Amino acid sequence: MSVSVFDLFKIGIGPSSSHTVGPMIAARQFACYLESTVGLAAVHSVTVELFGSLSATGVGHGTDKAVLLGLAGHEPDRIDPDQIEPAIAAIRASQSLNLLGERSIAFIEKEHLLFRRKSLPMHPNGLCFHASDALGQEIVQREYYSVGGGFVIDAAGERVLNHSSALPGTAGHGQGLPHPFQTGAELLARCQATGLSPALLMAANEEHWRSATEVRRQLLAIWKTMAGAVQRGCASTGTLPGPMRVRRRAAELHQQLSRSPEAALRDPLSMLDWVNLYAMAVNEENAAGGRVVTAPTNGAAGVIPAVLHYYVNFLQGPIPANDDGIATFLLTAGAIGLIYKENASLSGAEVGCQGEVGVACSMAAGALAAVMGGTPEQIENAAEIGMEHNLGMTCDPVGGLVQIPCIERNAMGAIKAINAARMALRGDGQHVVSLDKVIKTMMQTGADMKSKYKETSRGGLAVNVVEC
Ligand code: SF4
Repeated sequence: MSVSVFDLFKIGIGPSSSHTVGPMIAARQFACYLESTVGLAAVHSVTVELFGSLSATGVGHGTDKAVLLGLAGHEPDRIDPDQIEPAIAAIRASQSLNLLGERSIAFIEKEHLLFRRKSLPMHPNGLCFHASDALGQEIVQREYYSVGGGFVIDAAGERVLNHSSALPGTAGHGQGLPHPFQTGAELLARCQATGLSPALLMAANEEHWRSATEVRRQLLAIWKTMAGAVQRGCASTGTLPGPMRVRRRAAELHQQLSRSPEAALRDPLSMLDWVNLYAMAVNEENAAGGRVVTAPTNGAAGVIPAVLHYYVNFLQGPIPANDDGIATFLLTAGAIGLIYKENASLSGAEVGCQGEVGVACSMAAGALAAVMGGTPEQIENAAEIGMEHNLGMTCDPVGGLVQIPCIERNAMGAIKAINAARMALRGDGQHVVSLDKVIKTMMQTGADMKSKYKETSRGGLAVNVVEC
């Protein structure tokens, strides 16, 4: 697989990339497959089975709604978040849905959407779709896996693309890329051989698939969406969906910080309050099912925007925080995220939260080191520190909702990323544990982790905190 920065940063909806965005893409892909094979007119019913983690935390993560929307033809980056609840309410009230908006079939959730506790062998996030004809005979059956960060593969391991990824070459294997790399060592070797930074290498690779103008346009669209999530998060009050009625805190914190700017002069660490605010605002938006950027997952969607806002709002140089600086930040983060995707996992259901907030922290640390003038070796060092101190972090969302511990955890990930960048920049880039070694360790640690700590809500905080 060849990974683009736009595979790692995808505009979508909350609350989960693996449990909401991925299943929506899979469901739509299944409906498109029906259309192109047997034809929608031949289909009289569709049954969907959700396996493993999708079954365990699917309702809390909105997997059920995502599947309905995907079958109806909706796409995570195009659907208006405000239209989601009315669309779901209409399907539930009529007990029918319109496949791809064209073919109405009966859909009664307790009969047609089935939650299976066991996992399929390929990955903990499995979906199996069945279509039947007028006689009730099965005519098509397909399996998909939502493997983290909105990536979806089929039973043959082939990548399932949504429309925005379906640009020439993205689905290929990197043939023709000017600077292919899969590991941290290869990235550093390329930087040394060419004299280019990780961001410039990444930009050159992106231009294999898209024009430089288009790369820039899409990067700035990602930034604009991240900034929009922060703004909406800072303006929204009330409680988040779910039985815990978790209070949204970002708006109040924003008011506090804005009300007394002079307090910041007395407290040199007040900047941390702002970083916390940016991260919490995005993750509250995500938990509410709003528009966010998967970065590289939705559960971890606040870390990179928070550190990017810190760069834009608090730092001056050496790379100015203008459009070029923002592009450098996102491309560097993408180069680091690519290495995780190629060698490990971005899935909380596969490796725990170290694969979500841990990876986001590592990406943000390297990106911040880059815009603070770091060498490629210091950037790699920052990314390594960002993961080393997240190793072993479990995924135990209370109530199966992407709220506790996820919202605060993003703030902690952002602060840790800033510290990792600063630590790396105080060194010369030489260090004992390489990025590749820490990624390998993260993967092995995830494999050793019991499944109750991997997005099943059967361990950790999820069993010690009682929902009311
Ligand atoms: S605990 Fe971490 S991995 Fe699990 S849902 Fe929350 S953010 Fe995602």
